[in-house]
Amino acid sequence: MKIQPATELYRKLPAVDELVREPAIRSLAESCGHEVVIGSARSVLARLREEIASGRLDESAVKLALSGLSAAIESEVRRSLKYSLRPVINATGVILHTNLGRAPLSETALEHVRETAAGYSNLEFDLERGARSKRDVHVDRLFRRLLYEEGSASATNSSTIVVNNNAAAVLLVLNTVADGGEVIVSRGELVEIGGSFRIPDVMAKSGAILREVGTTNRTRISDYERAMTERTRLLLRVHRSNFEITGFTEEASTADLVALAHWRGIPLMEDLGSGALFDLRSVGISGEPGVLDSLRSGVDVVTYSGDKLLGGPQAGLISGNSELVARMRSNSLFRALRVDKLTYAALESTLLAYVRRDHDAIPVVRMMRLSREDVGRRAEALAKQIVSPNLKCEIVDGESLLGGGAAPSCVLPTRLMALSCEGLAAEELCAKLRAGDPATVARVEDGRVLLDLRTVFPEQDAALAGNFARICG
Ligand SMILES: *Cc1c(COP(=O)(O)O)cnc(C)c1O
Repeated sequence: MKIQPATELYRKLPAVDELVREPAIRSLAESCGHEVVIGSARSVLARLREEIASGRLDESAVKLALSGLSAAIESEVRRSLKYSLRPVINATGVILHTNLGRAPLSETALEHVRETAAGYSNLEFDLERGARSKRDVHVDRLFRRLLYEEGSASATNSSTIVVNNNAAAVLLVLNTVADGGEVIVSRGELVEIGGSFRIPDVMAKSGAILREVGTTNRTRISDYERAMTERTRLLLRVHRSNFEITGFTEEASTADLVALAHWRGIPLMEDLGSGALFDLRSVGISGEPGVLDSLRSGVDVVTYSGDKLLGGPQAGLISGNSELVARMRSNSLFRALRVDKLTYAALESTLLAYVRRDHDAIPVVRMMRLSREDVGRRAEALAKQIVSPNLKCEIVDGESLLGGGAAPSCVLPTRLMALSCEGLAAEELCAKLRAGDPATVARVEDGRVLLDLRTVFPEQDAALAGNFARICG
């Protein structure tokens, strides 16, 4: 076949002005916006011109493309108006998956966000007195109840404030208490948490001077004691979160640190990272300090994330001695780091679930409490739904991870679906699952795709089955 010169084929392409006068495109512009439609028309035409230039299209191919022009523009418009941020199915079994948005919010939390954020609220307004008030009150009362009244002393002497995330919480405490002074930290705790949160860097930004003591594997209470001078403002303990030190190790006990700090009249801070408000021992995980354990043992101020084991919105919580916390609230940095009404609403609702002891209302806690058998039963049921001649599915033992900066050894026994699809490498099958709607994120191990339903909401099982039907026929 004779290929026409490109210039002649170009001439067959309509002008954008001409295109937008066509009824189909005009009605598209009415519903989706004129600018978007013109932009999409331009990019569809540009693509066509490129293909012509590359010599890939002959006259009949151009004709065919022109007959489908409005459809192509419409799908381009739809594509450009789609959300970039969208839900995915987390089949990795990592409960607090930082890349997948950490803690999912409960239905009641979302409802509370919706009803308070859709209109006006009493965020900083005391309805009884008809006067201005503080946004902290909405959650401080609940933290008081959860952290103090139920067990330990001094409820009146303790409070909690909320900032944007735990990194901000650490920055605010260090800047308030130790700007220009020294903070003593064990060399075994100078951690980096995912996304470039490094203790020495945050320390430098806060204006505090890092005073490292001990060695990577061993730090004793006497190391802290020897390092204390008149410039010392704070003793800091940092939860290692994402790694462990094993073997020939030693660290000062919290009780010894509390005793030393109080003897010298200096506050002790603990950066907990993931602040569990429920007893992890109840799901078989020990050695992870909860917020309550830490405060009860006499630590003056603790910092933790709202969207890790607490299971709420992204936030940084600072709980502890009222006088210290009041100093942080009056630091001008606090104004820059504070959170909005959406966060307060989601946090208030999450905390109320703890007050009601309705732990299963909080998605991450519910997921942690699922037994290996619970997950296994759902896996068996789903396996039956996705049978296809070229798909092999086995149910095997495995482990779910807490993730999100909880100790790496914190695993929960689970049952996994191990899948292989004929004619598809595991990586390819994984990529196809990611291309689904909703996208499914799974892991690959030993040439098989592994799905852990612990982190999949039961109401997503059907969508997951649909995803497989599409891929494996
Ligand atoms: C996760 C973590 C942080 C950072 O918390 P974000 O809420 O992600 O800012 C800081 N310190 C420790 C010990 C952590 O585990």
